[in-house]
Amino acid sequence: MVNGRRRSVFAMTEPGGAGSDPAQLATEAVFDGETFTINGRKWLITGADGALTWIVMARLAPNPFLPAGPTLFLAEGDAPGIVIERVMNTMDRNYVGGHAVVRFENLRLPASALLGEAGAALRYAQLRLAPARLTHCMRWLGAAGRAQHIATEYAKTRTAFGKTLGEHEGVSFLLADNEIALHHCRLGIWHACWLLDNGERARHESSIAKSFVSEELFKVADRCVQILGGIGISDETVVEMIFRDMRAFRLYDGPTEVHKWAIGREVLR
Ligand SMILES: Cc1cc2nc3c(=O)[nH]c(=O)nc-3n(C[C@H](O)[C@H](O)[C@H](O)COP(=O)(O)OP(=O)(O)OC[C@H]3O[C@@H](n4cnc5c(N)ncnc54)[C@H](O)[C@@H]3O)c2cc1C
Repeated sequence: MVNGRRRSVFAMTEPGGAGSDPAQLATEAVFDGETFTINGRKWLITGADGALTWIVMARLAPNPFLPAGPTLFLAEGDAPGIVIERVMNTMDRNYVGGHAVVRFENLRLPASALLGEAGAALRYAQLRLAPARLTHCMRWLGAAGRAQHIATEYAKTRTAFGKTLGEHEGVSFLLADNEIALHHCRLGIWHACWLLDNGERARHESSIAKSFVSEELFKVADRCVQILGGIGISDETVVEMIFRDMRAFRLYDGPTEVHKWAIGREVLR
């Protein structure tokens, strides 16, 4: 993977099964003491088409050998039994391989394919999520900063009604709102990362950062499109792509409402 010869995928989300609520996991793994046989259907699986290293989440059925429940498995992408039904047509374009609908059809894996402990998948997923969310936050903070830079240059040079756009208070306030949002997003990310660096799990703070940053940066990108006028919705600048690609961040790694729900529970506790 480091050399770029393999891509990895994480296959959890299901139509009608695991989603915001991963406990609804429906894909099933049956273990006979030697082989796992996995059946189920997933969707929104990023990079599935062409990926060789698969982490599959499935519910291990009760068996005499291992604890049952949500479990992670490691599989090779070219294994018989992994069927890519189709790559979905989505509004974002920034992920190699897109997002696929996948079927596991009697996917047979050896006992060594078990990743970590049986029944512990949801705990592992939670552990991964705090740093993973923050890397997405950093990526989109950089992209929003780029959009703000492009919008600022446009506002400095484009004129309307006898002065530059930036000299119109309505436009300078849009740039100011962006600057305020970018600053607070950066501080929120730094704080959550600092907690992680100090050995804390920072689940609450990474939730706060993820929900705030995804919502605020999307507004930043939208204001940049507005400042650029008609050109803002064209691919003459990267702002259009940033706006389109960023929309999905309010959904993956936990939709905003799910984070707010968890933050609210923590407040009440
Ligand atoms: C670009 C992109 C890439 C993705 N990549 C992957 C991947 O590689 N692997 C993978 O397994 N999955 C992936 N996903 C799926 C992603 O994890 C799910 O979209 C996400 O967990 C939400 O699940 P869902 O889409 O089933 O939404 P649902 O569970 O159907 O929820 C729909 C909406 O209901 C609301 N909602 C849900 N629960 C609550 C609550 N408690 N309180 C209030 N409102 C609530 C929210 O508004 C939510 O957006 C990806 C998604 C996107 C958009």
